[in-house]
Amino acid sequence: MDRKLECLRCGNSMEYIKSEKIQLGESGWLLRGLPNLMSGSLSVEIYFCNECGKIEFYHTNEELVTKIQCPGCGKFHDKSYRKCPFCKYDYKDK
Ligand SMILES: [Zn+2]
Ligand SMILES: [Zn+2]
Repeated sequence: MDRKLECLRCGNSMEYIKSEKIQLGESGWLLRGLPNLMSGSLSVEIYFCNECGKIEFYHTNEELVTKIQCPGCGKFHDKSYRKCPFCKYDYKDK
């Protein structure tokens, strides 16, 4: 999978390097901040900005990319929702 990405830092277009499977639990430095509910392995695509040297990792595992767990009711829903479709938890209030 190839896509055009812009560096968040400098706006340069980022270069695709490779995709890699990461074993969760062994790469804590990389995946810090991800919810603990994820387990197993995670597929990521690695992009590099040769302008400022920034490296970005993008998840390619659909399940992990598009679903988040609502802190209000604990159900999973698409992360594009501004409010939880189940309990109306409002993410803007945070
Ligand atoms: Zn950059
Ligand atoms: Zn909810």
